[in-house]
Amino acid sequence: MKRYMPEPYRIKSVEPLKILSRKEREEAIKRAGYNTFLLRSKEVYIDLLTDSGTNAMSDNQWAGLMLGDEAYAGSESFFHLEEAVRDVFGFHYVVPTHQGRGAENLLSQILIKPGNYIPSNMYFTTTRAHMELNGGIFVDVIIDEAHDPTRSDVLFKGNVDLDKYEALINKVGAEKIPYICVAVTVNMAGGQPVSMENLKQVYELSKKHGIRVIFDATRCVENAYFIKSREKGYEDRTIKEILREMFSYADGCTMSGKKDCIVNIGGFLALNDEELYRKACSLVVVYEGMPTYGGMSGRDMEAMARGIYEALDYNYIKHRVEQVRYLGEQLAEAGIPIVQPIGGHAVFIDARRFLSHLVQDQLPAQALAAAIYVDSGVRTMERGIVSAGRDKDGKNRYPKLELVRLTIPRRVYTYAHLDYVADSIISLYQNKNAITGLKWVYEPPVLRFFTSRFEPI
Ligand SMILES: *Cc1c(COP(=O)(O)O)cnc(C)c1O
Repeated sequence: MKRYMPEPYRIKSVEPLKILSRKEREEAIKRAGYNTFLLRSKEVYIDLLTDSGTNAMSDNQWAGLMLGDEAYAGSESFFHLEEAVRDVFGFHYVVPTHQGRGAENLLSQILIKPGNYIPSNMYFTTTRAHMELNGGIFVDVIIDEAHDPTRSDVLFKGNVDLDKYEALINKVGAEKIPYICVAVTVNMAGGQPVSMENLKQVYELSKKHGIRVIFDATRCVENAYFIKSREKGYEDRTIKEILREMFSYADGCTMSGKKDCIVNIGGFLALNDEELYRKACSLVVVYEGMPTYGGMSGRDMEAMARGIYEALDYNYIKHRVEQVRYLGEQLAEAGIPIVQPIGGHAVFIDARRFLSHLVQDQLPAQALAAAIYVDSGVRTMERGIVSAGRDKDGKNRYPKLELVRLTIPRRVYTYAHLDYVADSIISLYQNKNAITGLKWVYEPPVLRFFTSRFEPI
């Protein structure tokens, strides 16, 4: 019998689920072009596509919706959000945006000039897209181990490789680097954290060269939990204290509230520099809305302000990370290749090894995600060659990691749901040779994973 931490909440409202028959699922995935993004939600039994905006809000947050101040300008709810961000993240200026990529758009337009270089600890899809749309050149400076799914001994696999970073500074010159983007945690590496020591070193090296440090703070609470449970000296610090120290090593951050703020929509850009803040305000009115709502309704800002505080509860974040680990350990014990160590928000299956009879051009992760859906009604996501897209010359990028992501929404599913997921993937693994590769039918020009269509080879 597995033992696990019981849920630190009880269920007050339920959403009934249905599971389609196998034949209906086969028809559904065919209609969706073998792309799980194109399935209808009603066709899905357990939805592990993403933890983005799929969170269950608390009674306190739902109550906050009713109190949302919908004033066009000067909404009370904005000030609640601003206070929460100042208190927890420690940045003075807060620009709300409709979601994380809204903040990325503002930041990239303000700071990046054509031909600039932006180092980062691995890429994220929308973050890199905004850098490139503004003429920036993304440079991956994560440690090599992050690209190796078998290196379970590396506890802070999201760390920046300081030698790679310094080599870039020496090669192109600090004046060509408007900022370094540090993701905490690193989604594309498997939800891997960055250590406090590394954050501090990155900040010191950046300041020596006059380079700004901007965090992609999307899963910063998960990162703080990993620091507390893995890094010496932080065992007795609260999540809030750890977050404050983390953000003391940054000049600003972009945030997708849809993740660690435990809401369904929203985001923000936070900064300390007044001049940058002014520039952000003049752009936000063009792309999002007034600087006191930035694409969010008053009630959304109210729910986010409350979610920021709820995420600081140790039992909340411990349960979340342990739930993810519970699923991952069941798969690993059955011999299924997964990214180790298990990350904060998701279990990543190594599709290269799961479907070792396929080559990367046969899109193993995309094929596996489709097969999982047909087998069990569980929706997962490709994070491999399809997500990586094409380079400037139009050539396919071939990422080392070819993964299927099983992402756990916050406070939504129970351990019994996860047992169902594990059982079905384990049985699929026993018949893995029956899974065939996929080929392209349609490919859009940017962020192709969202809408591409495929068919079996
Ligand atoms: C989701 C995400 C974003 C973008 O945020 P949206 O709210 O989806 O626009 C940026 N960075 C990371 C690491 C993310 O996971």
